[in-house]
Amino acid sequence: MPANASDKNAAPPLPEPLRVPVADSHTHLDMQSGTVADALAKAASVGVTTVVQVGCDLAGSRWAAETAAAHDGVHATVALHPNEAPRIVHGDPDGWSRQGAREPGGDAALDDALAEIDRLAALPQVRGVGETGLDYFRTGPEGKEAQERSFRAHIEIAKRHGRTLVIHDRDAHADVLRVLKEEGAPERTVFHCYSGDAEMAEICAGAGYFMSFAGNVTFKNARNLREALSVAPLELVLVETDAPFLTPAPYRGRPNAPYLVPVTVRAMAAVRGVDEDTLATALGSNTARAFGY
Ligand SMILES: [Zn+2]
Ligand SMILES: [Zn+2]
Repeated sequence: MPANASDKNAAPPLPEPLRVPVADSHTHLDMQSGTVADALAKAASVGVTTVVQVGCDLAGSRWAAETAAAHDGVHATVALHPNEAPRIVHGDPDGWSRQGAREPGGDAALDDALAEIDRLAALPQVRGVGETGLDYFRTGPEGKEAQERSFRAHIEIAKRHGRTLVIHDRDAHADVLRVLKEEGAPERTVFHCYSGDAEMAEICAGAGYFMSFAGNVTFKNARNLREALSVAPLELVLVETDAPFLTPAPYRGRPNAPYLVPVTVRAMAAVRGVDEDTLATALGSNTARAFGY
């Protein structure tokens, strides 16, 4: 029996293992409780044998690169998150970032941080540059310029190193697609936590962008995501946790981790009307192709 309703903070139970191994294409192990080794073992025990560890700031990007070097089955991506870039330039008066309040550093500080991302992107265990992109939900108009400048710089870094671009797009679909078109997208581009509708999925499909679905595809109010998943070409579909966030139903609100990927895979298989093994086979090879490992 799952934990009772009062046990809202408890880790959800282990799902039944997948028969065909898949990858969690986007996770944040550094924001989850417990050790990396335990998280990987638990995930592998249910068929999630590979994870992509995503960096959001300099410290997190260095950590992602170190963790990927230390563990088989972990690949890293490095970046300044779209909400991190404006904080570097303008400071962080509210101090909600993990480092706490920060003094404004101006454009030069952003350039310095981007130079470090560039250096990390050259490491062999770093397969991607991201998460980058645009977030108009958390960043207000005053941060837009820094955010877009950072996004463009990340696209350039990804292309120069032959890395996969990992996009974070929150309430910014049109501008993300515009900037990608203006800069020219890298050969491999992933929309993490895909949040567009079916119409946007057609645009992504036309451009060859991967669409990575997270636990929110299981949410009752996410019909648009399920419609997008139904029309996306199977060879461009990925699955992710974005853990510790976006825990799939019926565990919404409880801590997420890579071992919960099978819950989302099963929901996705139902949406597409394919059996679990067929979908898992596609997800496994798609993720390897998307990140070039
Ligand atoms: Zn994101
Ligand atoms: Zn993320």
